Amino acid sequence: MADNKIFLSEKDIPQKWYNVQADMKNKLLPPLKPDGKPAGPEDFAPVFPMEIIKQEMSQERWIEIPDEVREAFKVWRPSPLQRAVNLEKALKTPARIYFKNEAVSPAGSHKLNTALPQAYYNKKQGIEKLVTETGAGQWGSAIAFASQKFGLQCEVYMVKISFEQKPYRRILMQTWGATIYASPTNRTNAGRNVLAKDPKSLGSLGIAISEAVEAAVTGKNSRYCLGSVLNHVCMHQSIIGLETEMQLKIAGEKKPDIIIGCVGGGSNFAGIAFPFIPRKMKGEDITLLGVEPSACPTLTRGPFRYDFGDEAKSMPLVKMYTLGHSFVPSGIHAGGLRYHGDSPILSQFVNEGLIQAKAYPQTPVFDAAVLFARTEGILPAPESAHAIKGAIDEAIKCRETKKEKCIVFCLSGHGHFDLGAYEAYLTGKLNDVNLDEAKLKEALAEVPVMDFKR
Ligand SMILES: *Cc1c(COP(=O)(O)O)cnc(C)c1O
Repeated sequence: MADNKIFLSEKDIPQKWYNVQADMKNKLLPPLKPDGKPAGPEDFAPVFPMEIIKQEMSQERWIEIPDEVREAFKVWRPSPLQRAVNLEKALKTPARIYFKNEAVSPAGSHKLNTALPQAYYNKKQGIEKLVTETGAGQWGSAIAFASQKFGLQCEVYMVKISFEQKPYRRILMQTWGATIYASPTNRTNAGRNVLAKDPKSLGSLGIAISEAVEAAVTGKNSRYCLGSVLNHVCMHQSIIGLETEMQLKIAGEKKPDIIIGCVGGGSNFAGIAFPFIPRKMKGEDITLLGVEPSACPTLTRGPFRYDFGDEAKSMPLVKMYTLGHSFVPSGIHAGGLRYHGDSPILSQFVNEGLIQAKAYPQTPVFDAAVLFARTEGILPAPESAHAIKGAIDEAIKCRETKKEKCIVFCLSGHGHFDLGAYEAYLTGKLNDVNLDEAKLKEALAEVPVMDFKR
C-alpha cells in the first residue's frame, strides 16, 4: 500500500499549464462590450498586461510556465496529495478519499498559483503597481506576497464585511507590504455611488472589483489583476490537477471516480478538474462536482446568460451562470464564495452537462469542517469545507451502496484566519440564510438582455 501522503519532488512541478480551451467542443462565446460588439485585446489593454490578455484568449493546449515562476513555486510546490484515512474510518466508508492540499502555500490557499505568474507578467511589462480587490482576504494576501516577490507595489480593495470580520488577513497583507482599503470607499466613483445609495453597505466582491478596476486604469503605470473567474486564472490553477494526476498514479489509482471542489468564481475547482476533462471526453467515467453555498447559488439557481463581472459594469459582459451583477449575497462566513458569477468556461461545461453542481447551507458545511478537523487535524477554510461536505456525502453514498470509489477533493485553503466563523459555529450562532427568490428576481431584472450569434 502506498503512503498516505504522496509527495512529488521540485523537478516534478509542471513545466506547462494546461489550457482546456483547446479541448472545448463548443468554443467560448466572446466577451461583449455594452453595445453588443465582441471585446478585443485592445479593450483589455488598460486593465491587464498583454501576456495575460494573450493567455486569456489562447487556444493553445499547453503554455510554458516561466522559469522564474517555477522557481517561486518551489517555496511550497509541489503540494502533497493526502489520503484522508482517518476521515474514511470515521465515516465507515469503503471509498478512498484523497485531498490535494493547497493550504500549504504561504498565503494559505491555491490563489498564489495565479498571483505569482500575474505579478511576473506585469513586472516583465514594466508595470509598477498592482491594484486588486479581495473578498475574504485570501486573494489580497496572495497578490501582496507575489507583488513583493517581483518588486511591485500593491493596493487592495477589501470587501468591508471581511475587513471587519478578518483583521488578521489585512495585517498579513500589510506585512507583505500592501496598502488596504475597506470597500466601498469614497476613493472611487464606483465606491461613492454605492455609498450614496447605502451608506452602511457591507460591500461585495462585485463592488470591490469596480473600485479596483477604476483605480488601476486611472492610476499611473498600474494594472488590475483578478484572482478567479477568468480563463487565464483557471489555466494557472491547472497545476493543481496536473500534479494530482501524477500523484494518483503513484498511489496506484487508475482513475479518480469523482473530483470535487468548492466554487466561488470557479478557479480552484477548474484547477483540479479541467486537466481530467480530456480523459472524461474520451469516455472515462469521471464525475466532476462543483460545490457552492446555497446563500450564493450561482450554478444551481442562476441563469446562463451574458452579464457584467462587476457591480459598476466597468468590464465587458461574459456568458456565465449569474445571480445578477447587482446581487449582494448575505454575509456568510465563506467570504470567498460570495461572487455573483462564475468562470465562463466552467459555466459552459455545467450547461453542457460535463460538470455537475450542488449547493449546501453553511451549517452542514461547518459540521463537515469540524469532522475533518477532528479526524485529519487540518482546520479547513470555510470555502474548502464545501468541497469536504461534498466529499463526505459521496463517501456516505459509497457506504450505503457498498462501492469502493476513489474520491478526490481540493482542499483550497486553511481556516486559521477564520476562527471567528468557527467560534460562531461552536457557540450555536451560525444561521442558514436562504436566498430569497424575490431578491434574486430583482437582481436578475438588472441583467441586460444580450446574446451573441456566431
Ligand atoms: C478564493 C477562495 C476560494 C474560491 O475561489 P475559486 O476561484 O472558486 O477557487 C475557495 N477557497 C479558498 C480557500 C479561497 O481562498
